[in-house]
Amino acid sequence: MRLVIAQMKHETNTYSPVPTPLARFAHGSDTPPEGDAAVRAYRGTGSALGAFIELAESAGADIVVPIAASAWPSGPVEDRAFDHIAQRICDAVAQGCDGVLLDLHGAMVTQSHEDGEGELLRRIRAVAPQVPIAAAMDMHTNLYDAFAQKVQVIAGYQTYPHVDMLETGQRAGRALLAQLQGRARPTMAWGRQPMLPHVMRQGSDDSPNRELQARCKEMEAQGALCATVFVGFPNADIEYAGLSAVVVTDNDPALARRFADELLEMAWSQRAKFVYEVTPLADSIAQARAIAAAKPPGSGPVVLLDHSDNCASGGTMDTMTVLGAILDAGLEDVAAFAVFDPQAVQQMIAAGVGNRVTLSLGGKLDMPAIGLKGEPRAVSGTVRLICDGQYKNYGPMARGELNDMGPTAVLDTGNVRIVVISNHVEPHDLAAFTAVGIAPQRQRFVMLKSRIHWRAGLSSLAHAVVECAGTGVCTSDYATLAFKNVRRPIYPVDAM
Ligand SMILES: [Zn+2]
Repeated sequence: MRLVIAQMKHETNTYSPVPTPLARFAHGSDTPPEGDAAVRAYRGTGSALGAFIELAESAGADIVVPIAASAWPSGPVEDRAFDHIAQRICDAVAQGCDGVLLDLHGAMVTQSHEDGEGELLRRIRAVAPQVPIAAAMDMHTNLYDAFAQKVQVIAGYQTYPHVDMLETGQRAGRALLAQLQGRARPTMAWGRQPMLPHVMRQGSDDSPNRELQARCKEMEAQGALCATVFVGFPNADIEYAGLSAVVVTDNDPALARRFADELLEMAWSQRAKFVYEVTPLADSIAQARAIAAAKPPGSGPVVLLDHSDNCASGGTMDTMTVLGAILDAGLEDVAAFAVFDPQAVQQMIAAGVGNRVTLSLGGKLDMPAIGLKGEPRAVSGTVRLICDGQYKNYGPMARGELNDMGPTAVLDTGNVRIVVISNHVEPHDLAAFTAVGIAPQRQRFVMLKSRIHWRAGLSSLAHAVVECAGTGVCTSDYATLAFKNVRRPIYPVDAM
């Protein structure tokens, strides 16, 4: 048995000004890893790709990994990058195989295609019309029919933060192996609802996604091979952004349809609970100060969540609104992770550890899609640390995967230690802090540019969390996003 196993992952924020060339998928090299290098990078990691490799090897299959391409979310993927990745995968499939296992995101938009995964499948089907294909996908998938019609198995993450990438790969991979070994005949039903759940209300610890995902698990215990609710990625102005469900059964299309419809009905009936209400920033800062004043000595930090500028949703990670409010309010004993500003890092490297600098920090990128200019802020402090910015996740999310912040420096203003980085990385893992010599559990406040994923590795340390509405292209204020291409009406943009 010969299996092609490949990864193409990108969540595209169509409002993001951050470019997405091939290098963004390459993690420091010119191109993403291929062949043995890809296997080495992902074998044993908590990823869907890691699960595929393990399953295929234990089934005694010959495996071909043409490419493992994963990039932090940003603006539309450059056509040249997409063509490179898709071509590698198509070439491997064209050489002949018994099955294909794909580790995809599901919300990729390219310069030319608003359904990047659908275009990949169109190209694969042009060279292999019949080969069975299974896909493991992110919960933020925006599902298109043109994609779903061309694969036999879809399994999506059932947790947000995404701590079950490995298990999702196992579900998708096992269903496909069962088909290839003649033990199952996967059949699939799917559908969408006209709704755009706010990301800040999508956590799987929170209702209603908690109940939706629990029902998916139950369905898998009741005969479904894979049951998935995709909450969708709303910061993408494309026709089919939003919530969908897909269920795979063993040769029982009626059951697949009934389960998918049940999940869709359940989500629609709970739609109001997916709506996020934005709190004014000044109120949030005051609330954080009050909580910190009352918290017992030795308890963990108050987390200030700068959720409008999360690089794991396509944020520039350099807006200074929330950090500026923290500096202006004079909050003490704060660690801020992080500001993306490679120029500032170079200035700090030039100054050297222990020396004072004044930086024009952040605000380097304009955000024309939401009508905002980048606004740097003058910040003075002492350079505390300089490092190469590389670390491996402790987990539970993406355990063992390498993160590369690029050249990294810590600026200490006296009240605030600001981590300044040269590559986008979301703080969802304690290792992000240990890499820069900060113990977040010892801080009074920790500012994070994150929305939900920080909970994976850091929520157990926190005394409390206060959501801070700053500025950025990951805003949860839909009134500031021009939805021109998404199908209308759609809830809650339109009253329904
Ligand atoms: Zn996601």
